[in-house]
Amino acid sequence: MHEMGICDGILSAAIDAAERSGAKRINSIEVSIGELTEVIEDPLQFAFDVLRRGTIASDATLDVTFLPARSVCVDCGKEFDHGRFDAKCPSCGSLVARLIQGRELRIDAIDID
Ligand SMILES: [Zn+2]
Repeated sequence: MHEMGICDGILSAAIDAAERSGAKRINSIEVSIGELTEVIEDPLQFAFDVLRRGTIASDATLDVTFLPARSVCVDCGKEFDHGRFDAKCPSCGSLVARLIQGRELRIDAIDID
């Protein structure tokens, strides 16, 4: 499952950043994940629960915000949310759109002591 690798990346980056700030422990990590990454919350939380053991994040929570896929229509400029295979402009019906959100994998905040 690719959540294990993604979680490993998130956790490593968070621990790096926290340790550079002199943290003794991490209380929570807030992340934003685009829906097009196909990350699913349950396996991500499971991976986090396994990977955090023995680190300064061993009691931390992982707070995930999922971001819907969003595109801007190249023909009329409208921004709209859509599914994975359904990026048709609801305003003018154009199928030509540029993706502006949905592939994020971003740490927004790390709460440390
Ligand atoms: Zn349009």
